[in-house]
Amino acid sequence: MKVMYQQCPACNSKEAEKLDPKIRQCAHCGCVYGCCTIRHTRRYVLDEWEPGTQDMLNNNSIPYDFWLIDLKYRIHGWFNPTTGRITQTG
Ligand SMILES: [Zn+2]
Repeated sequence: MKVMYQQCPACNSKEAEKLDPKIRQCAHCGCVYGCCTIRHTRRYVLDEWEPGTQDMLNNNSIPYDFWLIDLKYRIHGWFNPTTGRITQTG
């Protein structure tokens, strides 16, 4: 496995904090991205829904989070980084 993105897939920023050897969190928009197993994603994103706010979906300055990729699955969407709950997937 490798880190597939060299920059944030949401905003293209290259500044990021390393959360795990293959996982980064964008310093600009809060996006979490990288490469790991589905089981490992549960450290960051739960299998539970949370209502989104209009600001979260419309305003790029509000944390806007992609998430994690492994060799078989590509998952992305928005979630609340504080609670880990999903607002939208796509
Ligand atoms: Zn970003």
